[in-house]
Amino acid sequence: MQPCDPELEQTLHADGLRITRQRQAILDVLQSTVAHPDAAWVYDQVRQQIPNVSLGTVYRNLQVLEDQGLVRVLRYGRFRRYDGNISRHYHLACLGCGAVCDLGLDWQDRLGQQVEQEGYEVTDHRLEFYGYCLQCRACDDPLAVTARADSD
Ligand code: ZN
Ligand code: MN
Repeated sequence: MQPCDPELEQTLHADGLRITRQRQAILDVLQSTVAHPDAAWVYDQVRQQIPNVSLGTVYRNLQVLEDQGLVRVLRYGRFRRYDGNISRHYHLACLGCGAVCDLGLDWQDRLGQQVEQEGYEVTDHRLEFYGYCLQCRACDDPLAVTARADSD
């Protein structure tokens, strides 16, 4: 056992509170949007509440929240988006602008049941829809939008 050091203990306690507060702020941001933002957007939002927070801290906490199953990470190629809604639902991703939307499609239990006929126990599945959003479809040349998004 370490000798009791009230000063050290207080520091650790303050650290713990700071980490908790940062993590809670990140979770709040993600649970209050349906935009499926990236880490930079989350960082901008959290910074408005906690001005001295760093991008690295936000990344670390997003990882912890993912490990704890409190947020979901959606990976589209090299894009990484975050979802504070961990209920089972499907997504629609725009190949033009990168927008990610929730899809009003019922969860398809029967897909898992069909796969279970292969002898697997299915605990989850993922189904992604890709295409072009209304805005990108209205654009004369959606590929130009794609090229622009890629060069960001
Ligand atoms: Zn789009
Ligand atoms: Mn979602």
